[in-house]
Amino acid sequence: MADWETVKLPKEMVQKIEEFTESQYAKQLGFTSKSQVVVTAIRDFISHYSDYMSYLELVDVTDEVVKIMDHKLDSTIEVKINKKIGGTFCQKHHSVQCEHTEFVWLIPRFQGVLKRFPKVKAISRPMTEEDFLLDAEQDIASLIQTKKGRTMARKIKELLDKI
Ligand SMILES: [Zn+2]
Repeated sequence: MADWETVKLPKEMVQKIEEFTESQYAKQLGFTSKSQVVVTAIRDFISHYSDYMSYLELVDVTDEVVKIMDHKLDSTIEVKINKKIGGTFCQKHHSVQCEHTEFVWLIPRFQGVLKRFPKVKAISRPMTEEDFLLDAEQDIASLIQTKKGRTMARKIKELLDKI
């Protein structure tokens, strides 16, 4: 028989695990105890993590940006919190859902940052046209905070006025 050790879990989480374990669904799958559910969940988490660990490396977590080194692409990727979209956004894939956005949600340091953005959630849907526009809007907003960006905006406006 396996040796067991005790690990503390938040009460609320244990209640949810209990509810799941007692459900018809869990019984049908063959779960018979809370420990079995937890062990399965952790195994799944570790295998998920090790998939990413083979090629994604955390570089830094700053205010609203997570920098990741992607060894498969051999480049640094930025994933940003996008408050308007209410999720995380990968600058490389221009997407709310890719391996990079999935990876950041596994990072405890990022979870710490997220406490300041309670409305931001992991999004699991394809990018919509509205997301694209909101993202472009945010890019422009940060761009015009720089002198170069303001000059560019003025030139664009001059061009648009001629149309
Ligand atoms: Zn990505």
